[in-house]
Amino acid sequence: MCNNTKLIDSLYIKIYNLFIFSKKKEKKMKKILSLILCLAMAFTMSTALTGCNDDTLYVYTNAEFAPYEFIEGADVVGVDMEIAEAIAEKLGKKVKIVNLDFDALTPQLSNLKDNEIILAGMTITDERKEKADFSDPYATSIQYIIYDNTQSVILDTIAKLEGKKVGVQLATTGDYIMSDFTVDNGYFDLTVNQYSSAQSAALILLKGEIDAVVVDKLPAEMIANNNEKLTAVAASYEVDNENIFASESYGVAVKKGNTELLSTINTVIAELIANGKIIEWTNQYSGIVA
Ligand code: GLN
Repeated sequence: MCNNTKLIDSLYIKIYNLFIFSKKKEKKMKKILSLILCLAMAFTMSTALTGCNDDTLYVYTNAEFAPYEFIEGADVVGVDMEIAEAIAEKLGKKVKIVNLDFDALTPQLSNLKDNEIILAGMTITDERKEKADFSDPYATSIQYIIYDNTQSVILDTIAKLEGKKVGVQLATTGDYIMSDFTVDNGYFDLTVNQYSSAQSAALILLKGEIDAVVVDKLPAEMIANNNEKLTAVAASYEVDNENIFASESYGVAVKKGNTELLSTINTVIAELIANGKIIEWTNQYSGIVA
């Protein structure tokens, strides 16, 4: 148990005892009481600030990745947030969402505490697995190209992006794979412009400042569905008869070595796949009516 929580408990017991035993000295009591309450509040605040809270599951995400996580009104909602709620329920905890830029989630992988997870449509990769442990996959995706369908040259394949400017979301798999496109690496040259979200990249695409955006399938399709000038298609590029845009699997990241939390999460994921909830939420948040 947290030390702060213990302190708060003992303060509340003291307040209670003072009430019982000092009823006569009411005026003095009031002063003591308010002092103690102030102290209790200070401890509560320090508890919140240090994140020392046993009944909270902290969920790190980047709420710019609909249908998995996005902002609706004052809330962060989406498929991943439903999964987070289901995990928290199994653990008997409540969810606290921490919304960061996607590139801030990479260092966070190595900094996770036992009561923290990352749920952000995050693809399980070997590099990321060195920093954190990942759950079983709960969804798969592939990279998509978003292009402006009103242009005379239709940039609907990776091969057509030679010499072009491609927008990506910083530190994502789309960024890593497109940033590899150089003559030195055996491909061809193109320019990669990094943005904090695929939506901001799409806005720049609409302004004509870049030629295409490369991002995961469902976020790409949702962006294209919301703008008639944009179209999204699957990205593919073959090297030695093999498509380098392989299928990606999304997983929940936990602190390395936290096998107990990981197995609870895997149980929840298996249940949510078996009862069709993940598909249901994916349809719901993508606006697909099943
Ligand atoms: N799946 C991609 C990745 O893990 C993009 C995730 C995202 O932008 N939220 O890099």
